[in-house]
Amino acid sequence: MIHTDIVVIGAGPVGLFTIFQAGMLGYKCHVVDSLDDIGGQCTALYPEKPIYDIPAHPAISGGDLIAQLEKQATPFAPVFHLGQTVTDLQQNNDESLTITTSKQAQITAKAVIIAAGAGAFGPNRPPLDGIEDFEGTSVFYYVKNPKDFAGKHVMIAGGGDSAIDWVNHLAPIASHVTLVHRRDKFRAALHSVDAMRALNESGDITLKTGYQLHGLNGSAPTLDSIDIATMTGEIETIKADCLLPFYGLSNDLGALEDWGFEINNKHITVDPITQMTSINGVYAIGDICDYSDKLKLILTGFAEAATACHHVLKRLNPDQDFHFEYSTTKGIPSAS
Ligand code: FAD
Repeated sequence: MIHTDIVVIGAGPVGLFTIFQAGMLGYKCHVVDSLDDIGGQCTALYPEKPIYDIPAHPAISGGDLIAQLEKQATPFAPVFHLGQTVTDLQQNNDESLTITTSKQAQITAKAVIIAAGAGAFGPNRPPLDGIEDFEGTSVFYYVKNPKDFAGKHVMIAGGGDSAIDWVNHLAPIASHVTLVHRRDKFRAALHSVDAMRALNESGDITLKTGYQLHGLNGSAPTLDSIDIATMTGEIETIKADCLLPFYGLSNDLGALEDWGFEINNKHITVDPITQMTSINGVYAIGDICDYSDKLKLILTGFAEAATACHHVLKRLNPDQDFHFEYSTTKGIPSAS
């Protein structure tokens, strides 16, 4: 059993900024996320895309924003529990709370702050026999480091922004990139689609439309080639060392829905003065929370993180008078 001050559920942008806000008030955080990487939607859905409405950043990519938030959180030594979903929340007699994860980790804290976005993310897997035996070695649902694909024959499947962006990004790095999509229409930014089609015309990538994934060939976990099939069942085999299927992410509020919160249309209702949910000591911030006229923006989530952390301090110290201090006055601990 781990004991800490605050458990943060979700390591998206809002959960990451919570570590800083909590740290400035003297609280340590353990952060749990079902994904293997931090960053929530910014990392999983649009790491390369610019965001234009983060204060003081005229433009910053999703990936760079997360890198900066991680740096800002580092002095407060957060402990991350990645690749595991929070499945249970218990209220204890001493008013502490205990969460349990899908890997059976148990963490007891004085407060729980839920920054779970639209719920736990998981990739939509293509229905291919034995695909799980190739995952993590030859089949990837996220790109952590584009250089991992240097010199490889990469097949990318899908027709959305992620598929097209990674085709364009990996084309000069990989030995060859093949894009497979069922239709010749794409649900992606026009300029990205145009860039991808230009790469196809110059022979730098191969575009296979009217095909879908059919089977993986190789001795798992090593992939040799992939069978793709037309809608009428004609099969073609393409050399491939790696497959990147981008069929979107499924979101699942999962167990969160059963913890007894007041829920409005899959969002947790909070008091916007404190960000507290209907369960004492449990807060919800960022995309997951709901109140009248809630704006689902990163900057709104940042402010909600500050509100929740300050309320944790007041709630845990009801008899103390607090003198508010700016970060300029307080300073921050140096990163060790
Ligand atoms: P998320 O980023 O959704 O992170 C939540 C995390 O919680 C996820 O990693 C999830 O895996 C985890 N989680 C959920 N449930 C559990 C559980 N039970 N156990 C463990 N982990 C769990 N916003 C802007 O302000 N400006 C923009 O320009 C902008 N552009 C966008 C462009 C795109 C393409 C998209 C998709 C969104 C954009 N957004 C933008 C929205 C912005 O990304 C979200 O508002 C923001 O990511 C919300 O942050 P969050 O931390 O609340 O949640």
